[in-house]
Amino acid sequence: MRQSRVLIIGGGAAGLTAAIAAARRGASVTLLEGGARVGQKILASGNGRCNLTNLSTSPEAYNHPDFVSPVLDAYTCERVCAFFGEMGLLTRADDEGRVYPATNAAGSVLDVLRMECAHLGVDVRCGFEVVRVVEVPSGGFDATSEDGETLRAEAVVVTTGGACELLGNLGHELIECVPVLGPIQTDAAPIRGLSGVRVKCAATLLGGVADGGAGGEDAGGNAIATERGELLFRDYGVSGIMIFDLSRYLEAGCVISIDFFPDVTQPELESMISQRCDALAWRTAETFFAGMLHDRVARAMLRAAGVSGDTPVTEVPQVRLVALLKDFRLRVLGLADAGQAQVTRGGAAVAEFVPDTMASRRVDGLFAAGEVLDIDGRSGGFNLHWAWASGIMAGESAARAAMTRAAESDGSSRGSA
Ligand SMILES: Cc1cc2nc3c(=O)[nH]c(=O)nc-3n(C[C@H](O)[C@H](O)[C@H](O)COP(=O)(O)OP(=O)(O)OC[C@H]3O[C@@H](n4cnc5c(N)ncnc54)[C@H](O)[C@@H]3O)c2cc1C
Repeated sequence: MRQSRVLIIGGGAAGLTAAIAAARRGASVTLLEGGARVGQKILASGNGRCNLTNLSTSPEAYNHPDFVSPVLDAYTCERVCAFFGEMGLLTRADDEGRVYPATNAAGSVLDVLRMECAHLGVDVRCGFEVVRVVEVPSGGFDATSEDGETLRAEAVVVTTGGACELLGNLGHELIECVPVLGPIQTDAAPIRGLSGVRVKCAATLLGGVADGGAGGEDAGGNAIATERGELLFRDYGVSGIMIFDLSRYLEAGCVISIDFFPDVTQPELESMISQRCDALAWRTAETFFAGMLHDRVARAMLRAAGVSGDTPVTEVPQVRLVALLKDFRLRVLGLADAGQAQVTRGGAAVAEFVPDTMASRRVDGLFAAGEVLDIDGRSGGFNLHWAWASGIMAGESAARAAMTRAAESDGSSRGSA
C-alpha cells in the first residue's frame, strides 16, 4: 500500500488548486482523477475562454453568503489573480468585470495549473475513479479505486464537482442536486417566430401566479428575482446570461415577466404610446411599432393582445399593449437542457463544514471544496472563483492537518519504541 500525506479526489478547478496549495505547504500530494484528463470543465468554461473570476466578487453572488464570506475575504479576486500570476498567467478584465486569461484561451489556465502541479511534484493519477473512502482506525484514510487499488493518506480533500456520494458515505448530509445556470424552457406559443431575436430588457421570475398566461394587466405574482441585460429568444424558450442567472431561482409553477422598457415607468410608457398614436394615426397596427420595437417582437405583442395587423392605429388597445410591453409573461416549464447547465445546485450541506478551513465538522482530517459543496453563484466568473478560493483554502488546511497528524504519530511511535 502506497502512502501520501494528502489525497485530493477530483482533478477539476478546486482539486488542482487544492493540490498546488497543499504541495506549497510542504505536503506530499496525490491527485486522483476519474477521467482520462484533469480540468476538462475548465477547458469548456466561458465558451473556451474561461471566465476565471470577477472584479466584483462578493458573498451576495452566492446561495449561502455567510458561508462563502470568510473564503472570499481570504481569497479575493486580486489574490486569485495573483495566485495565477505567480504561475505566469496574465489576466484581463472586460467592461463588466469578468476576468479572462489575456490569451483568451481556457487552455492557458489549465496549462499553468498542470505545469505547477508537475513542478511541485504532485502525483497526478488519471483514470483513478475513487469508489470508496474509509477512515483508518489508526488515523487517516484509505481511498479505493474501481480496480481495487487503495491509497492511504493522513488527510483527504474531496473536490468531485457535482458528484457528492463520497461525502454522503462519510456521513455528510447531502442536499438534492439540481442543474442551474442554463436556458429556460417556456410556453412556446407566445414567442412563436421570435427565435434568434435579442432584446435588452428586464426579466422577473414570479411565483404564486394562478394563471401563467401571456400576461398583461394586474396578473399578480410574487417577484422571486429580477435580472437586466440581453435576453435571447429561442424556439424552446429564453436564453442569455440574465436568464442563466434567473434559472438559479426556478420553482414549480413560476412565470417569467419581461419588461421591454425597464427604464420607463408604466405611466410614462402610456403617455409615449398615446402620443405615438396621435402622431402616427395614419399607420396600421402592423407598422405602429416600427422604429420602436423589433418587428418580430411587435408582432408577438399584437398577437398576445388579439389585434390584427390591419387594425387602424386609432383603434389599437393602448392600455393592453402597454401592459404587455411592461409585463409580457411566459409560463416556465423548467430548465431547457440540463446538459447545458453550468453548475449543480445542491451537494454536501455547508453547515457541516468550517468556512475558515473547509474542514468537515464530522470527520477529522476530511476537507471539501468547489461544487461538491452546496454552493452555487451567478454567472460571470463567480463559480470558478469559488472553486479556486475554496480549493486553495482546503489544500492549505489539509496540508496543515496532515503534518500535525504525521508529527503526532511519529511522536507516539517514538514514545512506544
Ligand atoms: C460549459 C460550462 C461553462 C462554464 N463556464 C464558466 C465560466 O466561464 N466561469 C465560471 O466561473 N464558471 C463556469 N462554469 C462552472 C465551473 O466550470 C464550475 O463551477 C467549476 O468547474 C467547478 O469546479 P470543481 O473543481 O468543483 O468541479 P469539476 O470541475 O466538476 O471537477 C470535478 C472533478 O472530479 C472528478 N471526479 C468526480 N468524481 C470522482 C471520483 N469518484 N473519483 C475521482 N475523480 C472524480 C471529475 O471527473 C472532475 O474532473 C462552467 C461550467 C460549464 C459546464
